[in-house]
Amino acid sequence: MSSTPITGSCLCGSIKFEAAAPFAGFRYCHCSRCQKASGSAHAANLFVPETQFKWVAGEALLKRFDHPQGERFAVWFCPECGTRMPHKIKTTDNMLIPAGVLDTDPVARPTNSIFWKSKAVWYHSPQELPQFDEYK
Ligand SMILES: [Zn+2]
Ligand SMILES: [Zn+2]
Repeated sequence: MSSTPITGSCLCGSIKFEAAAPFAGFRYCHCSRCQKASGSAHAANLFVPETQFKWVAGEALLKRFDHPQGERFAVWFCPECGTRMPHKIKTTDNMLIPAGVLDTDPVARPTNSIFWKSKAVWYHSPQELPQFDEYK
């Protein structure tokens, strides 16, 4: 890998990876599967060619759930702490990195939101809500 790689890890630190730019895409996904898998309003998915990605620790620990009805959808996660980890997309040569598990700034920023029509009925743009810098 040429440029300084970005790094990511799970909550317990057992699984670590690194990836290098340029990325193949970065977007929010509001589909119902991403809502379930993230437990949140949407996923933040960063895509990187598999050749620019490598596991640094814990690859053998990964628990893999490939959705039986999903062409692309999968959830790979750390069985120790439950953190969602990157997964190889079956239909492309890309890895999908859940951006929330990154430990470094990918510099790239999301460029669009997909499955907007499927967004959670309770979703509010964060800009519409009061903001606090600490727990409240
Ligand atoms: Zn973990
Ligand atoms: Zn999705």
